[in-house]
Amino acid sequence: MKRTQYCNDLSEKDVGSSVTLNGWVSRVREFPDTRFIVLRDRTGIVQITVDSSNPCFATADQCKSEFVLEVTGTVQARAEQNKSGAYATGAIEVIPSSIVILNRSKPIPFPVDGTPVTAAEEIRLKYRYLDLRREPVREALRLRHKTISSIYQFLDAEGFISVETPMLTKSTPEGARDYLIPSRTSAGNFYALPQSPQLFKQLLMIANFDKYFQIARCFRDEDLRADRQPDFTQLDIEMSFVDVDDVLELNERLIQHVFKQTLNVDVPLPLPRLSYADALDRFGSDKPDQRFGVEIKNASSLMADSSFAVFRTALEMGGTVRVLTAPAELSRKQIEAFEQVAKQNGAKGLAWTKVAASGLEGGIAKFLSPTESTGLLEVTGAVAGQTLLFGADSKDTALKALGAVRLALRDELKLIAADAPRFHFSWVVDFPLLEWDEDNQRFTFMHHPFTSPSLEDLPKFGTPEMGSMKARAYDLVLNGYEVGGGSIRIHNPEVQEKMFNAIGFTTAEARERFGFFMEALEYGTPPHGGIAWGLDRMVAVMAGVETIRDVIAFPKNAKGVDIMADAPSPVDEKQLSDLHIKLK
Ligand code: ASP
Repeated sequence: MKRTQYCNDLSEKDVGSSVTLNGWVSRVREFPDTRFIVLRDRTGIVQITVDSSNPCFATADQCKSEFVLEVTGTVQARAEQNKSGAYATGAIEVIPSSIVILNRSKPIPFPVDGTPVTAAEEIRLKYRYLDLRREPVREALRLRHKTISSIYQFLDAEGFISVETPMLTKSTPEGARDYLIPSRTSAGNFYALPQSPQLFKQLLMIANFDKYFQIARCFRDEDLRADRQPDFTQLDIEMSFVDVDDVLELNERLIQHVFKQTLNVDVPLPLPRLSYADALDRFGSDKPDQRFGVEIKNASSLMADSSFAVFRTALEMGGTVRVLTAPAELSRKQIEAFEQVAKQNGAKGLAWTKVAASGLEGGIAKFLSPTESTGLLEVTGAVAGQTLLFGADSKDTALKALGAVRLALRDELKLIAADAPRFHFSWVVDFPLLEWDEDNQRFTFMHHPFTSPSLEDLPKFGTPEMGSMKARAYDLVLNGYEVGGGSIRIHNPEVQEKMFNAIGFTTAEARERFGFFMEALEYGTPPHGGIAWGLDRMVAVMAGVETIRDVIAFPKNAKGVDIMADAPSPVDEKQLSDLHIKLK
């Protein structure tokens, strides 16, 4: 290695020393008698100054953006008037005695030297290796590395060991479709890529590993709406002989460690917890953004005799009337935009009224009796200059719609105070065990089928009460994103069988799909539980970027396509026939 230093390591203390640098030409400024080459490496930039009397001038003259150079020369202090405060090495320059062009570059499709990039994301992804030369992208990946490294540090010190689990395996249900891999040697049979290492980590508990973790790649063939990737990374954790509090406590300390190590941010503990029911009731979401208030209130009993048909019908059908206070007088246009949000989330509309000094005014005010109006002001605590927005529907729909409107209000009215903590964590607990699947007219699991019911609900399996069973499950929420989830598991084979039956698997079907696991449960399974963090999302929030693509080195686009490598793509006939596959 000929490099003696990285660019950014040079400073006035090096003046007079001879250095050899390796890097890329970030920019060349040409003057009649001088070439200024900004050389860039992994750490930063430094200016190479070559005047026409320098024997290197002819080589410098050939240098273009993104050429790869080896520069040997002497560090020199810049004249006072030439010093730049714009970058770390602005007080010095290197006067080369040798410039070797190690490689040339075609003109690049977008700048990577720090000037703003206007190229579409698709272009950046097609040339991701160039995009990765840009400092903000590299910074995000450095943060990802530091996060993972601090996770290893903490969990290792806590006695956890990292174990790799298979990529080619049998399907593990996490509620998504599997990616399947056809077997060449076993015609007609398929591996599945793991949706998560769920079953393997539970087997590791049965195997007396006690404390396991893994930075695990997971694969889920889901609709890629929202910000998802078909393959993504989890921090996967499992522990034996634990209860909910043990898992949460360990994770809280881990979060505190990681945020301190990587961002020097103090996360106050314990993290707030709220129940699933409260989260929905107050915020209309099971991953509430609690960096701001604006909570949903229940106006159902107030509106029991409402003369407004929409409210009355909703209540008569067993539904609800909920109200959200926008802390501003909304314009007609804003209300229409929020109504669209409500509609996209299943509501039929968005009733509204404004709070004036004299009472409620406009919108549905004309349908409200004086008692109803006063009652609304009491329930909401709204004051003049604010706007009330209503959801009247089934409870699920009204809450979901107002939850979405609440987030739209956050963005439109900039509701997060400038001095609010950058990161707001909370736990959502007491999830239902099961949810009703309308399409298949049966219950399905809410987290996954290995989640333990709360112990007092065990007798409800197979009874009409089954829908009200609670799970010993928890989600970790950060700034309105679900960044983790887990549970205490079922460790008793009979309970596991009841769970499978509850979600519509006969015992025989369950044995066929998960026989190896059901059998393992019968060999002395310790009580155990764990969690998985969505590492991509966690790092994206830490980095303050919008999409998880920004914290993944080689992401797929929003349609799940790797436009750089061109995947998925057709394969040869021969490859197909080896795999015993005929295309339709
Ligand atoms: N395997 C679960 C998931 O991927 C996490 C867990 O229950 O630990 O969501």
